[in-house]
Amino acid sequence: MSARRSSPGTSLGFLVKVETDSGVSGLGEAYWGAGVAELVHKAKPLLLGEDPTKIVKLFDVMVRCLSGEGSQAGATVTAISGIEIALWDLLGRALKLPISTFFGGRFRDKIRIYADCHAGATPDPADYAKKARAVVANGFSAIKFDLDTRNPHTIDVSDDPNPRRQWFEPFNRVIGSREMLWMVDVVRAVREAVGPEIMVAMDAHWKFNVNDAIKLAQALEPFDLLWLEDPIPPENIEAQRHVTHSTKTPICTGENLYRKHVYRELIEKQAARIIAPDIPKMGGLAEAKKVADHADMYYIPIAPHNVASPIGTVAGAHVCAAMNNFLVMEFHAQDVPWWDALVVGGPTIVDGFIHLDDRPGHGLTLNEDVARAHLKPGSSFFGDTP
Ligand code: MG
Repeated sequence: MSARRSSPGTSLGFLVKVETDSGVSGLGEAYWGAGVAELVHKAKPLLLGEDPTKIVKLFDVMVRCLSGEGSQAGATVTAISGIEIALWDLLGRALKLPISTFFGGRFRDKIRIYADCHAGATPDPADYAKKARAVVANGFSAIKFDLDTRNPHTIDVSDDPNPRRQWFEPFNRVIGSREMLWMVDVVRAVREAVGPEIMVAMDAHWKFNVNDAIKLAQALEPFDLLWLEDPIPPENIEAQRHVTHSTKTPICTGENLYRKHVYRELIEKQAARIIAPDIPKMGGLAEAKKVADHADMYYIPIAPHNVASPIGTVAGAHVCAAMNNFLVMEFHAQDVPWWDALVVGGPTIVDGFIHLDDRPGHGLTLNEDVARAHLKPGSSFFGDTP
């Protein structure tokens, strides 16, 4: 099943349930996306009759048997991620242990989350500052804004009325001089609004060319950003490395990579200062822990990208608790009024931290009424006829 976010165009993930003949079940979540639910159902015969405690073996079986569907990256890996998370929850419930136990136990019981923030349709720097102050007043100690939203100084060569497509004009990835100054003004306004103690990150969604990305990152150095995310397109690791090594502003990337092998080059070339795997998308809990451990050999922190419901968020928080190099995790649901109500029993979020407890698995129970009320049109409730 998938739960739909209240704002159009963005969904929470697909929830995945694994049931056993002993009556214990597990609930996981896969990142949203076309084909993911179909691929979850396609994997079902690979699990029927198997021992659900053999999680890493089942992961390997799914990767091998779904290779034709594309299990190196993309929707197939995302579907497997949701099943894998459900299996860890199931194991926790069977053994009456929290998920974090299976990854070596916790370095911390509180997981810092950062608020993904939006300043409005056509914001100016003062709107960013106002929003930043409001979110910090709600208790968050870490925030992130989009720096690539519509800039009043963008030289727009398109008449396209769709603002999402307008963001990608012009196609040459150039930042004009006035655009650059506007972005610097935005970051200055946010930093001055929240003071030096608040973690402030900015996201550029792969928009710029290498040289302008370096100019921007260097211009933002006085404002002590937590990171500048995805200033250039993601495909070329050498280009990532060049940008990263050309500025004191930390460069973060990784939300669209899949499985440990694809993070290997990014880590070993030290092409990012901070890595942002999306756990219910890139392979699941064990795969994220392997990426984190690999990154830790290069002393690179992990800051998971996250747009999940409470299920994927708290399951991810359990593995983050077991990563010594965990930095902060995304919280993308400030504008989803029913996010908390989707589950019974938490998560407990206080002053910008998810507080973990010792309940079995991830500890959450789905509120089925709320889930049914927010089913994505055309999707089913765990395979039931809608
Ligand atoms: Mg991003």
